[in-house]
Amino acid sequence: MTSSLMKSVSGIRGIVGESITPALIAAVGSAFAQFCKRGTIVLGRDTRTSGYAIEKGLESALLLSGSSVINIGVVPTPTVQIMVEHLKADGGIVISASHNPIEWNAFKLIGRTGTFLNGRETEQLFKLMDNDFTYAGWDHIGTLKYEMGADDIHIQKILSVIDTDAIRKRRLKTAVDSVNGAGSSITVKFLNELGCGTIPVYCEPTGIFPRGAEPVAENLSDLARTVLSEGADVGFAQDPDADRLAIVDELGRPIGEENTIALVAEHLLSKNAGRVVVNLSTTKAVDDIAQRHGVAIARTKVGEIHVVEEMLRMGARIGGEGSGGIISPEVHLGRDSLAGIGYILEMMTERNKKISELVLELPQYSMKKGSIRLIGKGAKISHLSKLKKDYSSQKISEIDGLRIEFLPGSEFYGGWVHLRPSNTEPIFRIIAEGRDAIQAGKIFSHFEKLLK
Ligand code: MG
Repeated sequence: MTSSLMKSVSGIRGIVGESITPALIAAVGSAFAQFCKRGTIVLGRDTRTSGYAIEKGLESALLLSGSSVINIGVVPTPTVQIMVEHLKADGGIVISASHNPIEWNAFKLIGRTGTFLNGRETEQLFKLMDNDFTYAGWDHIGTLKYEMGADDIHIQKILSVIDTDAIRKRRLKTAVDSVNGAGSSITVKFLNELGCGTIPVYCEPTGIFPRGAEPVAENLSDLARTVLSEGADVGFAQDPDADRLAIVDELGRPIGEENTIALVAEHLLSKNAGRVVVNLSTTKAVDDIAQRHGVAIARTKVGEIHVVEEMLRMGARIGGEGSGGIISPEVHLGRDSLAGIGYILEMMTERNKKISELVLELPQYSMKKGSIRLIGKGAKISHLSKLKKDYSSQKISEIDGLRIEFLPGSEFYGGWVHLRPSNTEPIFRIIAEGRDAIQAGKIFSHFEKLLK
């Protein structure tokens, strides 16, 4: 049974025991070793209970295929990316299904520059997986090494680009919810380095997720309650592989994960202007911020590597995804919740403002996200071509599903909607944004009805 297997630029994802099997692990390992020309591969994983068993199988497949492995243990996805670059390795694999529920696991595939494989490279790898495997002989089996200092290298990299002295002097009080995932220990350590008093909420790396895995508002009530009861200045929440960051303000209100990239873009552009790249589903607040600072903004398909490739082309200063992913080239070209935390603390310190005050200074929009189960992908796609015709007088983008931006004269003017099949789950996503919650809700229900 392989119905749950999802292969895309976001990696190879499936349900453990159903589509993630020993045979699949062997196929991924031997294909990736071939792809990396039997070079050295950095291996890391999140805390999922299936992670250890998958790691052992993958290690074995890589070694028997002639690659050497540097295992860096339980670490965030961005830590693996940084270590591939740092160790000058030939590739990396993160065993993590990111925000998917606990029964899922996945292989996130990293090339020699420390960024995810792009579309062309991913296709190449998938082809290799279909071939017969070529294993190494007894005298060409790779070597295995454990390297446990990766979190310090990651932390130091961020500390070197922010004003650590100023942040330390401010002595901010923080609360952190790492969903018992890969961010659990590194985040607390990082905040301690920054002189922040830190109250951990779900920072036991057990891999049992005590709340929904995505750091969206409805999953953050325990963090919000802790921020309030402990009088913290800010609360930080991650997903299980700690590439995504969401924020709770000092009044215990989740500010919405879309505002993570908005805040960081505002902060970095005000210090040093430069181009911005975000995906098609990201809040329009970022366009307004780019305009405020007189810089160009580009939008890409959803998926970290699409944003990263455009950032490289444009020489961008900042990039990201509205789901809480911020990408700062001065740290690394990958979404990194810890870099996000560093910049937010620096922003609070330099502007001497509370998080709620900083949010009020952002362009105000409201977003409604949802999904419908994908039964016939084809049917939904044909729906999209009909919608494209019906809305041809609006501003349309077709590079990833269908995105409609509503122009003056439209009842939804000021808002937009993005309709697309997910890369990571068998669902069709609907993302609607408006000037306020009422308009966002209206746009959302209008298109939800049309798609159903
Ligand atoms: Mg993630």
